[in-house]
Amino acid sequence: MSALETRLLIGGERVAGEGDPLAVENPFTEQPVATVEAASPEQLDAAIAAAREAFPVWERTPALERAEMLHEVANRMRARTDELAELMSAEGGKPKLENADEVGWTAAAFDYYAEIGRDSAGRVIPPIESSQLALVVKDALGVVGCIVPWNYPLLLLAWKLAPALAAGNSTVCKPSEVTPLSTLAIGTCFDHLPPGTVNLVAGAGQIGAALSSDDRVDCVAFTGSVETGKKVAATCIDRMARVNLEMGGKDPFIVCSDIAAKLDIAARGGAWAAYLNAGQVCTSAERFYVMEDVYDDYVNAFVEHTRSLVVGDPMNPQTDVGPMVSAAQRAKVAAQVEAAVGGGAELLVGGGRAGHDTGHFFGPAVVTGVAAETDLLREETFGPVAPIVPVKDLDEAIALANGTRFGLGANVYTQDLPTILRCMRELRSGTVWFNDPLTDNDAGPFGGFKQSGLGRELGREGLEAFQETKHVHIETEVERKSWWYPYGEGS
Ligand code: NAD
Repeated sequence: MSALETRLLIGGERVAGEGDPLAVENPFTEQPVATVEAASPEQLDAAIAAAREAFPVWERTPALERAEMLHEVANRMRARTDELAELMSAEGGKPKLENADEVGWTAAAFDYYAEIGRDSAGRVIPPIESSQLALVVKDALGVVGCIVPWNYPLLLLAWKLAPALAAGNSTVCKPSEVTPLSTLAIGTCFDHLPPGTVNLVAGAGQIGAALSSDDRVDCVAFTGSVETGKKVAATCIDRMARVNLEMGGKDPFIVCSDIAAKLDIAARGGAWAAYLNAGQVCTSAERFYVMEDVYDDYVNAFVEHTRSLVVGDPMNPQTDVGPMVSAAQRAKVAAQVEAAVGGGAELLVGGGRAGHDTGHFFGPAVVTGVAAETDLLREETFGPVAPIVPVKDLDEAIALANGTRFGLGANVYTQDLPTILRCMRELRSGTVWFNDPLTDNDAGPFGGFKQSGLGRELGREGLEAFQETKHVHIETEVERKSWWYPYGEGS
């Protein structure tokens, strides 16, 4: 791994943080990776001031030039895929292979928004009279604060940063205190942009809170837990700042009877959806609802496949599932599974430490017989656990799927068209995947119903989240209108 960048990026300058030290730990070795000094309040102030100063410069940069610069960001990231993937494994524990994919998707988001950012700046609408021109103009918002969690540190940053920049905004970005290194490492990917357009500040919750409450920040784009997201929302609404929230989930995964002949594939798809990144994906499949007539075979196939997975060193290309990010996350998952088992559930495979003495490992787990009201079926788990529940029909599956406060994603395995149509219409979630779990598409809006979020990332909606809408009405003739005063004169 090359020398670690621990400095912040403020106004185009690399500066050592002057705030609290953040210890970054390797979740596999449990050894320190680096210490990053967070931004002090004065440094956050300077970063926001730099973004404000850069905003008019960047906003007035022609869209084509902005697009070229964003493509260059993507190129610089791709060229560093291996180095960044290793760094992300060291600080986050995700297998290097998955991190290399993440770098690719991150670069792709910059390429996508480079192009749609120069495609349109609004629309022309029919005017009231023929001597007029009427426009809907999309303006940049100003300074956007981007607050990101640890599970996909670069991708979730790119889903905010790329559209915010493409729309002409300047930014102040705060990575998670758990995984600041990969974000600080990509600072050099932006040094061809006007200084201050992208500022990177490390810090924990109080820096995020200060960023959200600063009147010079016009919009906050946040990904993280529901609890933190609600705080960010309350802070922003108080000053009527724009806010875009991507929060937690409890995604259902429905397996229908018609898939009987392909149950093994549905089990492998389910295991991947439940265990990807050790279950630490906002759209992890966390509740499986399987039709009674295929339930036993599905559970058996799922357990058998789970037993075959390689759980180990994230740097090993053979590893399927790495450690969880921290001892605290692991303890939360273990407690949820223990409570379910205490309530009568059966742990068919997994749990424990998957044979590792060090590292925050939680063995990929299949649990059956979970009581309906336990947290394992109601609250976010964020770990490699698949509770599988039998259902008698589609009515019951849809009712249970919709029965939580979350609505981020949902998966269904079926090839029956009427079933696809019903699920598409009735599942209350921002994404519904059929037979291909968790596949994102830069052009497809991503976000949550209910408490899973507010607004959308990706797609055109993801660009509009960082734009203000202005109606412009131009009359080319200067003449008295018949409907003005004095009314007594008539027209
Ligand atoms: P978190 O809410 O603890 O932290 C997220 C970010 O918010 C971090 O950068 C943190 O420092 C910052 N923060 C903490 N307190 C703050 C405050 N008061 N004001 C402003 N910022 C504050 O979440 P986490 O543990 O880092 O991430 C896991 C959560 O993220 C899970 O709930 C997961 O579902 C969610 N998530 C959602 C999506 C999505 O797209 N919907 C994607 C990935 C993760």
